[in-house]
Amino acid sequence: ERIVEIEKISFENDYEKSLRPSSFEDYIGQEKIKKNLQVFIQAAQKRSECLDHILFFGPPGLGKTTLAHIISNEMRANMKITAAPMIEKSGDLAAILTNLQEGDILFIDEIHRLSPAIEEILYPAMEDFRLDIIIGSGPAAQTIKIDLPRFTLIGATTRAGMISSPLRDRFGMHFRLQFYTKDELSLIITKASHKLEKICQHDAASEMARRSRGTPRIALRLLKRIRDYADVVDEETISIERAQYGLNELGVNDLGFDELDIKYLELLLQSKGRPLGLSTMAAALSEDEGTIEDVIEPYLLANSYIERTARGRIATAKTYELFRLTPPILQNGLF
Ligand code: ADP
Repeated sequence: ERIVEIEKISFENDYEKSLRPSSFEDYIGQEKIKKNLQVFIQAAQKRSECLDHILFFGPPGLGKTTLAHIISNEMRANMKITAAPMIEKSGDLAAILTNLQEGDILFIDEIHRLSPAIEEILYPAMEDFRLDIIIGSGPAAQTIKIDLPRFTLIGATTRAGMISSPLRDRFGMHFRLQFYTKDELSLIITKASHKLEKICQHDAASEMARRSRGTPRIALRLLKRIRDYADVVDEETISIERAQYGLNELGVNDLGFDELDIKYLELLLQSKGRPLGLSTMAAALSEDEGTIEDVIEPYLLANSYIERTARGRIATAKTYELFRLTPPILQNGLF
């Protein structure tokens, strides 16, 4: 199992659920998003209206689902959770929509994966709270319109570029989540270890934070595994030594890269400045292109370890230096 593996559909386990913040105060970081959401929530409550539809973009594990939970708590609304791959037929979506109550929140994860036919059903539902059902086919086909209760759709997607523009335009608010800083992750780890009734020393928390690829889900998983290492040897407190030992055992290297990151970067370094295309990378790593684009690359791009050019991916001078290699001299003046 890869420690930074992010399940595509995160019907999360009890561990994550128990550590999930339930209010904005407990939700660390993403300050701008929190501030905006709080204003919109207050305004909607003052007017006794439903919240506008909301779309969250960002790599897996950054807290999109958690924000949806917090919004539903704040709005005192019920939330129904589903994911696009589970909505296969138009009848599936029709059933979900007709079962909503006034003021409910519908959360659809991986919303970029809805089929075009299903998206078409969402449009009138989002705009006019109306379901158009077509019965029969050919000249005898009839459209039946059903009124829906007013609801808020919260969509989450790892791929901003993959969501169709008609769907994107029907969301009143768009938020892009950022990777977390080391200090923010350190705080998340410390708070979580409190909840787990384990003391995590400050330097141990910051070491785990440094190696969490900017992602709370990864930070919490590292904490869970390192807590196991500490429990096995009856240590009450997680020390820096135990954290380092655990991290190394888990294959998370000193720079915070895991094995897949390293394989990915080594490929680019070996190509000596020649850009590699996504399909070449996928074949060489035996990973699907989606995983590479959604899970591996966002963090490497955000931290300037790689660059995406028109001709493919290249490692930056920073990466050559990290791996103690001399950057190749390139014509395009990147180095
Ligand atoms: P996403 O929906 O973006 O894949 P989640 O909302 O499921 O991510 O977050 C993964 C886990 O990380 C959650 O279980 C939650 O406990 C934790 N988490 C995410 N964001 C934060 C945050 N800002 N503060 C504290 N914990 C967080």
